[in-house]
Amino acid sequence: MNFFLETLKTLGLIVYYLLESLVFLVVPRRKKNVSGEIVLITGAGNGIGRLLSLKFAKLGATVVLWDINQEGLKETSRLAKENGAVRVHCYICDCSKRQDIYRVADQVKKEVGDVSILVNNAGIVTGKRFLDSPDSLVEKTMEVNTMAHFWTYKAFLPAMIASNHGHLVSISSSAGLTGVNRLSDYCSSKFAAVGFAESVDLEMRTLGKNGIKTTIVCPFFINTGMFDGCKTKWPRLLPNLDPEYVAEKIITAVRRNQEMLLLPRSLYFLFAVKNLLPVKIVVLLIDYFGCLHIMDNFVGRAKKD
Ligand code: NAD
Repeated sequence: MNFFLETLKTLGLIVYYLLESLVFLVVPRRKKNVSGEIVLITGAGNGIGRLLSLKFAKLGATVVLWDINQEGLKETSRLAKENGAVRVHCYICDCSKRQDIYRVADQVKKEVGDVSILVNNAGIVTGKRFLDSPDSLVEKTMEVNTMAHFWTYKAFLPAMIASNHGHLVSISSSAGLTGVNRLSDYCSSKFAAVGFAESVDLEMRTLGKNGIKTTIVCPFFINTGMFDGCKTKWPRLLPNLDPEYVAEKIITAVRRNQEMLLLPRSLYFLFAVKNLLPVKIVVLLIDYFGCLHIMDNFVGRAKKD
């Protein structure tokens, strides 16, 4: 195809896809059925992971729950069964350890079957200035928030490719789209998670594996306890999010095969203009929302406990 024809075709498709998105804004896409799917959720022992587990179980999926926290897992499993779930499988897995991930993944394949929806949700945060962050915590953050995604994909993606069916869900963060002071290791890990999920998504598209979907989730602070102590200067403009609201939005995004989910919605606008504005204005706006000092009162879960 020559340059002129290909440019014309691309412009035509751009207009078509824009119109398509506008139509989907008014008439939302149908939600896919997830009953019968095998959904693996890392970090299922608390917070968003627990809520997603309960919601997937309620929709009739078989849920495979991973966490390092045995008590948390037991509680999630109890709540899921209380809600009528029958197929709940719990595994202790330390997602910071590649060998642990491969070992438990093999166990899951033998005992439950091939995972068709993989939710990489486990996450940790250091919450210190970079030079005050212990090397061990910086490494752990990258291992749990990023590298675990590599190893879980290696373990479960081949079966998805073989059946051309699956869904890869990456719980990143708004901190995966912009830097935040005192979150340098966390932001790095979340940027990497976004880049990784986007790249593999493109690999699936070029392989013609259109049955394998990707959803990348980038929420602002959520009231789960992970970021206790943090809030913006104007909570009415940019509030911390309710965990139940976030989990429901994630489930809907997965069921509609939505590629990118930013929460709250105002983030779509803020990140769209971020790359267009001069850096001084961006820093001014970050300061206006109180984000330059958002980590000053950080307590987090570990310190509080
Ligand atoms: P949470 O602390 O409530 O839950 C995280 C879970 O991960 C816990 O059950 C914990 O035991 C588990 N976990 C930690 N290290 C692990 C490991 N090595 N192996 C296995 N499991 C491990 O956190 P949350 O608020 O529910 O966050 C869920 C995800 O959402 C995380 O990836 C987080 O980075 C992301 N996120 C959270 C917020 C927020 O404000 N809470 C905002 C944006 C994104």
